[in-house]
Amino acid sequence: MTGKIIIDIEKCKGCGLCVMVCPKGQIVISEKSNKKGYFPAKFKGSDNCSGCAMCAIICPEAAIRVCKNSENKAKK
Ligand code: SF4
Ligand code: SF4
Repeated sequence: MTGKIIIDIEKCKGCGLCVMVCPKGQIVISEKSNKKGYFPAKFKGSDNCSGCAMCAIICPEAAIRVCKNSENKAKK
């Protein structure tokens, strides 16, 4: 199963918790700040995201949405 995440960069406060918790190293902190001056998290966008949702669970700002590519799609 794979997944991807969508980060609402304007909600993100750049705390880095999602970066620390991701077991696949799929999240980094962006070099560009958002409108509030925080450096938001950025999804690397590779195929390694498992859709485990740990990042979304830990995020205190509820800025991460997880999309899972599982049963509906045929395996590559
Ligand atoms: S869903 Fe899991 S693997 Fe994917 S970015 Fe979040 S913590 Fe990492
Ligand atoms: S845990 Fe949430 S607020 Fe913190 S850096 Fe990640 S997306 Fe941003």
